[in-house]
Amino acid sequence: MREKGLLIVLSGPSGVGKGTVRKAIFSQPGTAFEYSISMTTRLPRQGEVDGVDYFFKKREEFEALIEEGKLLEYAEFVGNYYGTPVDYVRETIDSGKDVFLEIEVQGAKQVREKFPEGLFIFLAPPSLTELESRIVTRGTETEEAIKGRMKVAKEEIELMDLYDYVVENDHVDAACARINAIVIAEHCRRERV
Ligand code: 5GP
Repeated sequence: MREKGLLIVLSGPSGVGKGTVRKAIFSQPGTAFEYSISMTTRLPRQGEVDGVDYFFKKREEFEALIEEGKLLEYAEFVGNYYGTPVDYVRETIDSGKDVFLEIEVQGAKQVREKFPEGLFIFLAPPSLTELESRIVTRGTETEEAIKGRMKVAKEEIELMDLYDYVVENDHVDAACARINAIVIAEHCRRERV
């Protein structure tokens, strides 16, 4: 009988497709993970709902959460704060359910320090060229910004060694299948009688 759930952390460089893979995992029928909804100070995008996509907070509110120790990790990304609510994560794991975080790499590094028993999965682009073309295709960045993001992405890729597994995001469905397989294997590995 399982006692505690797993803390599953999916991270990787900006533009690799973490959000797409996470949404695909949670759209599968019968997904056994609980998604930890993050807090952020960025404004909602069209169609995003407070309490579903994120908990949208004012900067002062977010800083109060940091002060009160309510976040398992947090990071500033492109001018906005993002963070994981610690109480939700602990309560869910303690109730025996697996929690799934989809966060950027600085946050994942903090979780690794506080929660070394977590399962850390790095989502990697098939190549840096492919990553650059994905960022360019999004069409939201200037040439200067693309260079900046690529520099950050190279540094982020160097952090790959901190992870338990590396999953290449060549196709969304294949990446999801690998992540599901890793979680199943990890449960089998940890639940020895
Ligand atoms: P977006 O603004 O596109 O929704 O997210 C921007 C980045 O923030 C993505 O890389 C996403 O993975 C990351 N992110 C989302 N929630 C969290 C969080 O709670 N903590 C950290 N550190 N990063 C997050």
